[in-house]
Amino acid sequence: MLNYYRYKEVYELFLKGKYEEAKHLLMELQSRYIETCDENSVLKSQIQEFEDILYLSKNLIFDGSHYWLITGNIKQGPFCTTCYNRDGTLIRLHDNGDAKRCYHCGTEYDRDNAIQNEGVEKAATPPRLAKVIPLYK
Ligand SMILES: [Zn+2]
Repeated sequence: MLNYYRYKEVYELFLKGKYEEAKHLLMELQSRYIETCDENSVLKSQIQEFEDILYLSKNLIFDGSHYWLITGNIKQGPFCTTCYNRDGTLIRLHDNGDAKRCYHCGTEYDRDNAIQNEGVEKAATPPRLAKVIPLYK
C-alpha cells in the first residue's frame, strides 16, 4: 500500500514538471517491483514443492516390497523401491511376465517381490534415464 503513495508521488512530480525527479523515483519503484515479483516466483515454487512433498507423504504407501501412489481411487505403481529410497524418484516397474524390472536402475524384482539383481546394470553400463511423467498439475 505504501507503493500506491509513491506512485502517486511520481504522478504529481510529472504534473509539476519535475521530470528527472519523477523518472528517478519511478525507476526505483520499478526495481522494487521486479524484486518483489522475483521473490514471489521463488516463494510460489517453494510452496509447490512443499505441496508435492505433502501430497506424497499422504498418498505414497509402501506394502513391504514396493511403493504405490494412491490418486483418488486408483492405486498406481508399483514403483521401484531402490530408486525411491536412493533418489526420491518414482519410477514405475515394467512387468515382463516373469519379473518386474526398473529401466532406470536395472533392479529386478521376482514374483515374490524379492530383489533379484539390485542395480546390476548400473555398475556395468550408465543407467537408462526413464521419463518421469507428472501425476498431476
Ligand atoms: Zn529403480
